Amino acid sequence: MSKKRILIVEDEADIMSMISLRLKSRGYEVYGAETGLVGLKSIVELQPDLVLLDLMLPELGGLDLLRQIRSNKKYTRIPILIISALGEESDVVVGLELGADDYLSKPFNMSVLVARVNALLRRAKVDTNEINVSDSQNDKGLKSIVLGNLRIDTESYQVFISDKQIILTGTEYRLLVALLNAKGRVLTRNQLIDAAIGNDAIVVDRTIDVHLTSLRNKLGKMREIIETVRGVGYRISQEV
Ligand code: CA
Repeated sequence: MSKKRILIVEDEADIMSMISLRLKSRGYEVYGAETGLVGLKSIVELQPDLVLLDLMLPELGGLDLLRQIRSNKKYTRIPILIISALGEESDVVVGLELGADDYLSKPFNMSVLVARVNALLRRAKVDTNEINVSDSQNDKGLKSIVLGNLRIDTESYQVFISDKQIILTGTEYRLLVALLNAKGRVLTRNQLIDAAIGNDAIVVDRTIDVHLTSLRNKLGKMREIIETVRGVGYRISQEV
């Protein structure tokens, strides 16, 4: 099997070499780009399997690079992991909305980085994920989403925990389905508002928090599956 190619777009030499060494030791083929513009060219030339993207970059910022990559059909499927500095949460939110897959804030633990990289590559490969959210059909032929003891019949809109039905509002139901379908990716508040309430409703960010609190309460012992990502949004926790 050929080695997976990872492109690191990062202008800080120390961080670049640290990440690069670790990923090489894990058997990846690693390339570096020290500016956004070089990063963009490298993506086109190398067609990497995954991109690690710093946001504050010379020549072309990380968000602009992301915008250009995601606007080209050829590159929409390359997993992109943002590596951001502390205090760049609002840029991270924009990055996720532009189509980045995940993010880590500096300083990060190298093992966590490797785990995230592995997870993104696995997800890209099978287009499912390590969290094991599965689409299946129950005995009545209804389509369902299953995660641990949680089961959602997506045709009858019924939600069960350990086969006991729980009653959700329409908004709570759509939030839960959106999070499950994201399969561990972080969804920003705006993305959740779009998914659950619709673009045309005027909603403040905090409304989503209220719906999520209520949803968590109804999930009872499974409330932990919804993880708050501080300053950014929510995701389905991987520890189920
Ligand atoms: Ca930087």
